[in-house]
Amino acid sequence: MSSVTGRVEVAGVEVSPDHFIGGERVASQSRFEDVSPIDAGVIAEVSRGGEREADQAVQAANEAFPGWAALGPAGRAGYIHRLADLIDENVERLAAVENADMAMLLRSLRARVISRGAKNFRSYADLATAYEERDWHSLGTWNRVQRMPAGPAAVITPWNAPFMLSTWKTAPALAAGCTVVLKPAEWSPLSCSILAELAAEAGFPPGVFNVLQGYGEEVGASLVSHPLLKRVSFTGSPEAGRQIGVAAARNLVPFTAEMGGKGPLIVFEDADLDAAARKAAGQYDDSGQVCLAGTRLIVQESVADEFLEKFHRYLDEQVLGDPREDSTTISPLIHPEHLQRVEGFVERARAEGHRIVRGGRRSEAGPLFYEPTLIEPTSNDAEIVQSEVFGPVLTFQTFSEEEEAVALANSTEYGLSGVLYTTSLGRADRVGRQVRAGIVWVNTFLVRDLTAPFGGMDISGIGREGGDYALDFYSELKTLQILEGSVG
Ligand code: NAD
Repeated sequence: MSSVTGRVEVAGVEVSPDHFIGGERVASQSRFEDVSPIDAGVIAEVSRGGEREADQAVQAANEAFPGWAALGPAGRAGYIHRLADLIDENVERLAAVENADMAMLLRSLRARVISRGAKNFRSYADLATAYEERDWHSLGTWNRVQRMPAGPAAVITPWNAPFMLSTWKTAPALAAGCTVVLKPAEWSPLSCSILAELAAEAGFPPGVFNVLQGYGEEVGASLVSHPLLKRVSFTGSPEAGRQIGVAAARNLVPFTAEMGGKGPLIVFEDADLDAAARKAAGQYDDSGQVCLAGTRLIVQESVADEFLEKFHRYLDEQVLGDPREDSTTISPLIHPEHLQRVEGFVERARAEGHRIVRGGRRSEAGPLFYEPTLIEPTSNDAEIVQSEVFGPVLTFQTFSEEEEAVALANSTEYGLSGVLYTTSLGRADRVGRQVRAGIVWVNTFLVRDLTAPFGGMDISGIGREGGDYALDFYSELKTLQILEGSVG
């Protein structure tokens, strides 16, 4: 391991493929290949960290913690706002690297996704500063709830929205006074490397914001089992979430997890069918690699044909292509292994006799494209209905009565999100309450108020992020109780 490292050029931007620990670049001798989904070519040889790097990063975060905590919310907010400003100034660089690394549409990255990162930081810095400690008198005592920074926190993020999710998760940790060790996913590690440098440029003291690169089962596993950590926050699959939760439990460390989804998109006969069909068909844009997507279309029988006709029409307008082009609306899948995984789901569905209504094969648009696919299952128990594909594959089912729609919606192990289309307020409230999910959108999708709780039920999550819910997680809530009249 050396501390002097090279940089690589990705999409015209210089970026370091190494760790960022204690304010310095640290390289591992062992490397892994980072593949761009745009052409399946290797764009960087990234440091492949292990136990030693994980320990080094947590030690650095632990040393930096007392100073960062002592700044208080307002002191930290100055640094965090500077970081947010730097993100806004670097939208083009960040968007270019994220696009090359993950293939999210360049125009979406430029227009909103990167700047959402800046919003995440501003929003949490302001919220932490505005926190009012609760005071009250009872039982002859004066009581106050204090929010104390918890300590060094591990933050683990997935590959599908690397920059946005890393900012969404590290912002509350930093604002609450925790120091952070961020481990981005191995399939899209580069935008977080730039984020670390922007944090340094914003003046963050060394060790407050660290980034580790490498595989989940290697550096990730060493990180989350480190005894000096005080919090572990994870976004990714339920499979990895279980393992990380066990590691956190061994050290009795609080743990939150945002995990997979298999959301229903329910269309009632009273709905604006055009809007519903447009949203449903628009869900293929990141090749369906969106945890919150309503991947199970559940449509009332009386309007099923009309809905499908509109759905196909909107899907016909979609363009699979180079995610750097403005005309492209659907990007490629992240990695050859993931393409095979998606293909495996569809092939098994075909073999089981479910009807492939549309797509169901690789596309010639590029090496990692799969055609937008719609499958009508013969049974609700089918794997294609019950398991998250995380690709451009939706299922189509019908119902006659409201209760049937709710039963179908709640029939999987997941509970992350749901989407309803109806013009009835009564139905929106009634069905919205019954759908087991951390968020239910009615006649809209993906609108996010950053102060609202965010998370999943069942295998989709443990705990809540968003607003004060996240700030509480990264804090120790302490009660100070003073005998009245005993101090002056
Ligand atoms: P993943 O679980 O394979 O990996 C996520 C992260 O965890 C990666 O950084 C990985 O390196 C790390 N990791 C894996 N095993 C680990 C271990 N044993 N110890 C420590 N770290 C480990 O998930 P993925 O394939 O990167 O992402 C796709 C999944 O993420 C999907 O299930 C998707 O629904 C989910 N997701 C959920 C949300 C949400 O907000 N609920 C958001 C985005 C993605």
